Amino acid sequence: MQLKAEVIGELKTKFRGEILLPGEPGYDDARKIWNGMFDRKPAIIARCVGTSDVIQSVNFARDNKLLIAVKGGGHNSAGTAVCDDGMMIDLSLMRRVNVDPQKKTVRVDGGCLLGDVDYETQLHGLAVSAGIVSHTGVGGLTTGGGFGWLSRKHGLSIDNLLSAQVVTASGELVTGSAEENRDLFWGICGGGGNFGIVTSFEFRCAEIGNDVYSGFIVKKFEDAKKYMQFHREYVRSLPEEMTIWTVVRHAPPLPFLPKDVHGKMVVVLAFVWLGGASEGEKLLQPIRDFSKQEGEAMGMHPWVVWNSIFDGLLVHGARNYWKSHHLKDLSDPCIDQILEYAGKMPSEECEVFIPHMEGAPSRVDGDGTAFAHRKTPFLLNVHTRWQDAKDDEKCIAWARELHGATQEFAQGVYVNFLSEEGEDRIKAAYTPKVWDRLVKTKDKYDPDNLFRMNQNIKPSL
Ligand SMILES: Cc1cc2nc3c(=O)[nH]c(=O)nc-3n(C[C@H](O)[C@H](O)[C@H](O)COP(=O)(O)OP(=O)(O)OC[C@H]3O[C@@H](n4cnc5c(N)ncnc54)[C@H](O)[C@@H]3O)c2cc1C
Repeated sequence: MQLKAEVIGELKTKFRGEILLPGEPGYDDARKIWNGMFDRKPAIIARCVGTSDVIQSVNFARDNKLLIAVKGGGHNSAGTAVCDDGMMIDLSLMRRVNVDPQKKTVRVDGGCLLGDVDYETQLHGLAVSAGIVSHTGVGGLTTGGGFGWLSRKHGLSIDNLLSAQVVTASGELVTGSAEENRDLFWGICGGGGNFGIVTSFEFRCAEIGNDVYSGFIVKKFEDAKKYMQFHREYVRSLPEEMTIWTVVRHAPPLPFLPKDVHGKMVVVLAFVWLGGASEGEKLLQPIRDFSKQEGEAMGMHPWVVWNSIFDGLLVHGARNYWKSHHLKDLSDPCIDQILEYAGKMPSEECEVFIPHMEGAPSRVDGDGTAFAHRKTPFLLNVHTRWQDAKDDEKCIAWARELHGATQEFAQGVYVNFLSEEGEDRIKAAYTPKVWDRLVKTKDKYDPDNLFRMNQNIKPSL
């Protein structure tokens, strides 16, 4: 699509950030997102530096009938941060973080990355419950739900969201909170980017100090079934201060693993304990004792170090395809399916992630926010990652097959882990009651479906 020069010129007079058009310096960098599968070319990229820029962009796209793609951290594996032809509203220059150490709250711009928030809150020994990779965006993560090492104890990101400033489809700036525009606030807590663009989030922080007892215990793949049978019961007996996630993958060349283990299939248990080291070690002892280990690294680590420990394995640019669902349990046949497919991973960068989810999130009502599936104990994320486009078919087929083989053990899906999978799968992220309410909220705030480059909730009108 070719936009008229005078129309763009007029936008530029009202815009403080950068307007980039195809072929201009910076355009190709700005349209890049985390998942290398997407090479889309927007007609125009609006790199916003403030709320006024976001409003101008929304009005411009609406008035010129342009599809909008909103880029927060650019991590959504479905590639929704970038579109062909339309307007990419890029928030990645909006990264202010203001902590209120007295109130233990933080206000975070809509384009912040998780690492931005960690660095600033940690000055005061605080942290926001969010994800485990520091280059992920707050915007997409929070509007989908958001969970990580702190969520079992402190709730999902949305459970700690106090208010949000939102630019709606009509270009209005409104506040959503428990007191104001409650329906909109409810919608952005799990309904993704369907209702507007959040220019700032206000979170409650958790007091975690600067160091957390954390680390890895690496088990042999040969013992995986036996270990996972033990794990499924044991982790459920642990206090909420302990979070342990299972990762089945080829061993990366970590310094604490013997060289002959590098590249071998292993079961990695990554954990965080929000308490003293000796107590944490005691709780982990049964895991260490249960079966032989390939290696371990446990100790007090600065939060900002631990909460970026997976960054290097998940750098930008590789090809990625995710399939996911919540698991009702880790029954024997479910473990069998996971391990059978794990044994034939199509690339050394693939992982099967199984976070343990129960705790504070499960105590919030299923329709208290738009994040509906809160009671399931585990989540399965088939995280397929490779480098060469010629392997696309093989890798995607593997993910789909593993996902299909575990479908009977599943209940619902996390909207942020969906690929492009169609409306039935989007509905699976919600209960029918929550879906109906989301549609009503969409009807009110975005009846023309301006914000549709997302896991889309279509208006009924
Ligand atoms: C390496 C990696 C690690 C991850 N780890 C975790 C994890 O530990 N926990 C977890 O819960 N999730 C995790 N995720 C999933 C993550 O929550 C989603 O990919 C999320 O969409 C990323 O947000 P983003 O802003 O980076 O994405 P983007 O691709 O920029 O945005 C995705 C969508 O979110 C919406 N959006 C983004 N910003 C805003 C905003 N400011 N206002 C309104 N809508 C907005 C838009 O609809 C956009 O299309 C991870 C993803 C990756 C790639």
